[in-house]
Amino acid sequence: MTRIVRTVAELREQVRAWKAAGEQVGLIPTMGALHEGHLSLVRLAQTKVKRTVASVFVNPKQFAPHEDFDAYPRGEARDAELLESAGCDLLFAPNAAEMYPQGFSTTINLTGVSEPLEGAARPQFFGGVATVVTKLLIQAQPDIAVFGEKDYQQLQVIRRVTRDLDLPVEIVGAPTARAEDGLALSSRNAYLSAQERAAAVALPDAMKAAIAAVQAGERIETAEAAGKAALAAAGFRQVDYFDFRDADDLSRLGPDALNGAKARLLAAAWLGKTRLIDNMGA
Ligand code: AMP
Repeated sequence: MTRIVRTVAELREQVRAWKAAGEQVGLIPTMGALHEGHLSLVRLAQTKVKRTVASVFVNPKQFAPHEDFDAYPRGEARDAELLESAGCDLLFAPNAAEMYPQGFSTTINLTGVSEPLEGAARPQFFGGVATVVTKLLIQAQPDIAVFGEKDYQQLQVIRRVTRDLDLPVEIVGAPTARAEDGLALSSRNAYLSAQERAAAVALPDAMKAAIAAVQAGERIETAEAAGKAALAAAGFRQVDYFDFRDADDLSRLGPDALNGAKARLLAAAWLGKTRLIDNMGA
């Protein structure tokens, strides 16, 4: 059975015991409502280390007051079953008081790669993510930590934070797990009505089309405009961004050609009340 612990002390004791036995440890931070994408992270970790720890914590610090913290799907029993089926060794499921005790006053302050895209659309987001992930890395002291490319900018921010703060952990990126029609798996897909779910495939479709167009010589600016228009036509009510960016520092590319740059197309768009994000290598 996947053991569940709720305190940092219990987590540390277990990780210490594994390390004393010469076993390496991988951490997979999540907000729960687990799906195949999360489990693919556990499996990737298992190819690299003997022991895996998944954390489930819906982190209040990364939600703005108007965002979906209260509505975010939760279900520990199902999460624990899925982790068990994937062979995960430990579930760390702290409550908010364990993570942010009375008087908690510290937030990581970021610049650079955190600023555009998600950082512009959700100003509090990466500070909250970086703070909780740094805490989790210090709490668990894993050898590796696995994050999904699904949240590509988050992965780049976490790589930056671990380098900048000399955190002794290897950050591993995992490819995006997708549904059969190409939609990236996400806990937030549960918000979509059947009709919205059918329309949502326009997001990966528009991205693939834009990448193919740019690779065939279309101007970046033109391909971005066509992608946004395709999303509007499919019923998306707002596109926060649909941008070709440098794959490492996420600086803007274009308006003309990729010019050999290592590029990534990143997008965020609203379908009804649901905000979907995705990205692909270009
Ligand atoms: P979340 O629970 O959404 O905060 O995600 C926890 C971790 O799972 C993050 O590293 C995400 O990037 C990763 N993740 C979420 N969805 C997917 C997916 N479809 N494929 C791969 N990784 C994912």
